Amino acid sequence: MIPYGRQEITQDDIDSVIAVLKSDFITQGPCVPRFETALAEYCHAQHAVAVNSATSALHLACRALGLGDGDWLWTTPITFVASANCGLYCGARVDFVDIDPATYNLSIEALEQKLEKAEKDGILPKILVAVHLCGQSCEMQKIYALSLHYKFHIIEDASHAVGGRYHGEPIGNCRYSDITVFSFHPVKIITTAEGGMALTNQSDLAAKMELLRSHGITRDPSLMTHETDGPWYYQQIELGYNYRMTELQAALGLSQLDRLDEYVARRHQLAQRYEQLLSELPVVLPWQHPDSYSGLHLYIIRLQLDKITATHREVFESLRNQNIGVNLHYIPIHTQPYYQNMGFKIGGFPEAEHYYREAISLPMYPTMTEAQQDKVVSALKKATL
Ligand SMILES: *Cc1c(COP(=O)(O)O)cnc(C)c1O
Repeated sequence: MIPYGRQEITQDDIDSVIAVLKSDFITQGPCVPRFETALAEYCHAQHAVAVNSATSALHLACRALGLGDGDWLWTTPITFVASANCGLYCGARVDFVDIDPATYNLSIEALEQKLEKAEKDGILPKILVAVHLCGQSCEMQKIYALSLHYKFHIIEDASHAVGGRYHGEPIGNCRYSDITVFSFHPVKIITTAEGGMALTNQSDLAAKMELLRSHGITRDPSLMTHETDGPWYYQQIELGYNYRMTELQAALGLSQLDRLDEYVARRHQLAQRYEQLLSELPVVLPWQHPDSYSGLHLYIIRLQLDKITATHREVFESLRNQNIGVNLHYIPIHTQPYYQNMGFKIGGFPEAEHYYREAISLPMYPTMTEAQQDKVVSALKKATL
């Protein structure tokens, strides 16, 4: 099976992790802050907080921004469930903004309309989670302008987008957002097995996320309610979690970071090659916004179902039967049973639902060979005949 995505682990990666295993600290040692500093510098952000997953980073980001009961969090329905669940973790309510038919990111027009209506109804969101699908940045300048007018916070869910750029600047610099979140799950651009990071330029948000990452416990006397009882003393001043990243993960992340630019460049080579090889097929190829240099975590095509006799499901099954590990990113969140039980209706976000009936993620990962890519293309030709 040619998978839709997979990690590369080099001897350097292995040596880095083994060095940690032989050291004094396998968690909460020097590698975690080194990884944070390295990625913050790469992204031109002031602060970085490493955690055990992007899901945890999204949760901490929402907590740091004060999301709670009675608040609203908005995101796109075409994303992994974690982009929305983080709002529910905080007791907030979640709603969605339909997608743009060209980029599959949340639609700016739909956002404008929904904000206008929400203002009249007195239910403006506290947080918008902007998801950079496939690694292609949302139109952050426009979203930021709307956030100034309607006074909402912005979290960039850049789980797909580390190594990508927007207007020539690294995604993660938080120029147009409060916090940016990355994922280091093995299918993503770089990996720490499990892991995530939250970047911000606001020192208060960084401090809050650091506190919540480790139980809400502090050893900083200036934050305590009274003089310390002694050298052993700490205080819990918030209700936090154990979301810490281990030294093993950070060492792997640091080692992988050395190859980040190479990985994204390789993904672009593969995408260009797909574009040539698929140009005659009855599929819509991914459109690249001129403002964006995508991380290309995913390569998503849409079937032109009016031009073929097979159904979407038949094409998908044919590819899997031909050992092509295609996938579908994503099932619109509002159609999930958990969200249906909250009252979301089928038909509520028609662009997202239309997209779902046509989309297929083709294999895309940096160690993919041209021979493997050719196999994918010929299997797709066969499947859409
Ligand atoms: C993978 C992913 C997440 C969750 O990442 P984890 O590190 O597995 O928690 C969140 N949002 C998006 C868009 C993702 O693709």
